[in-house]
Amino acid sequence: MLTNFINATYIAAGLMFILALAGLSKHETARKGNVYGIMGMVFAIVATNFAIAYTDYANHNLQPESAAMLYAALAIGAIIGVWKARKVQMTGMPELIALLHSFVGAAAVLVGFNVHLDHPEADALHMVEVYLGVFIGAVTFTGSLVAWGKLNGRITSKPLTLPARHWLNLAALVVLGLLGWWYLVTGSIVALLLATVVSLALGAHLVAAIGGADMPVVVSMLNSYSGWAAAASGFMLDMTILIITGALVGASGAILSFIMCRAMNRSFISVILGGFGDDSSAAVDAEYGEHREASVADVADLLAEADSVMIVPGYGMAVAQAQYAVAELTEKLRKHGTKVGFGIHPVAGRLPGHMNVLLAEAHVPYDIVYEMDEINDDFATTDVVLVIGANDTVNPAAMEPGSPISGMPVLRVWEAGTVVVFKRSMNAGYAGVQNPLFFEDNTVMCFGDAKDTAQAIVANLPQLEGVR
Ligand code: NDP
Repeated sequence: MLTNFINATYIAAGLMFILALAGLSKHETARKGNVYGIMGMVFAIVATNFAIAYTDYANHNLQPESAAMLYAALAIGAIIGVWKARKVQMTGMPELIALLHSFVGAAAVLVGFNVHLDHPEADALHMVEVYLGVFIGAVTFTGSLVAWGKLNGRITSKPLTLPARHWLNLAALVVLGLLGWWYLVTGSIVALLLATVVSLALGAHLVAAIGGADMPVVVSMLNSYSGWAAAASGFMLDMTILIITGALVGASGAILSFIMCRAMNRSFISVILGGFGDDSSAAVDAEYGEHREASVADVADLLAEADSVMIVPGYGMAVAQAQYAVAELTEKLRKHGTKVGFGIHPVAGRLPGHMNVLLAEAHVPYDIVYEMDEINDDFATTDVVLVIGANDTVNPAAMEPGSPISGMPVLRVWEAGTVVVFKRSMNAGYAGVQNPLFFEDNTVMCFGDAKDTAQAIVANLPQLEGVR
């Protein structure tokens, strides 16, 4: 009876996770998708607790003290989780996600060692599961920690390019293969420990070698790895729900990485092999001439005259929390009869969908928010483009050979009548590459914090009262 209840709850949880993924694929249904995900997680936790507390689950008779430890760990985890979720800023999400991926990796390694020690007589299949779980878990663990460090600036975002680094990776894989063979033949824990050390080093090196604008793909790739690590733990623990969830995360992360690679026109293999944005090419410091500056009043006048305005937000809008001021400006312009749209680059900000979340938070209508491919041909017929804290995603150098971001599709904002760039200085963006857009004849720079600038423009637009 209890077993049936537990299995039924696991199936319901699996269904909820599938509905969650379906919901998260569109703005309109994303909130619902999140609710399904939360429900799935609650089902999974409840069923797992029943399974552990009341049955001879996976051949372990759980003692009351172990149950108490389990619930204490759950409570502590829940408290830390809620505290973190309330505290984290939207701009800090990618690094938090990277850190959470590292936990999944660490858990898979610990589960692997636990299963190894608990089942000294395990058959070959179980040993393969343990070995793969430890390998994927260890790579995910250190890879995610390095990604976390790069995203929050504790580690430089420049790629680490050791001499013969591809050979080092290949050597690590060969050593892992040999250690795996040793482990399978002898069941030696020394082989497993050595494999863990090599996998930890491989994970750190793989991600350290990736730099600049390839980081979004890395985050989503580590998401996928963490899914496979969880699925491996599921096999080791004979826990169907963990296998289902892990496979869903692993597959969706892999698909997302593929889509992002396509959006950045990079091959998946070249991203994984790293070295992107290395100093040799990034150091091309071309002379672009002088830039021009515009005051808030100048920009207000420009907007008052414009028939069509396109807003292109980037990471700076998130840092400045300018989305509310931008939404207010949008509303004012639309009431005035100006056609306003938003152009969103797939990797604008610091995580996929970053800009969409911010704009939804500020209640910008979904139907004026366009993907890059939908909008790129319309810039040529747009009067004014406001680039709000975006840089790499609007860099025309990406269209030329020789730049570290060559080949990355960008929003062709420079084709518009006038481009106004809101940022604080002439500093480069995430990829560390100078942006020739800032020196174009039809570009003006409006320096300052994006939120202050947007608010000042709203205040400077009395001429927009009423419809034209
Ligand atoms: P960029 O990081 O290229 O540029 C952001 C710009 O915002 C900076 O040049 C900065 O200039 C400006 N800025 C920062 N703070 C403020 C502020 N308070 N007010 C006004 N401006 C500000 O951003 P994009 O969104 O164009 O590009 C995203 C980059 O991040 C890409 O290279 C992408 O590959 C990478 N990335 C994306 C991830 C994703 O999943 N989306 C994940 C990890 C990396 P200044 O300092 O002069 O103000």
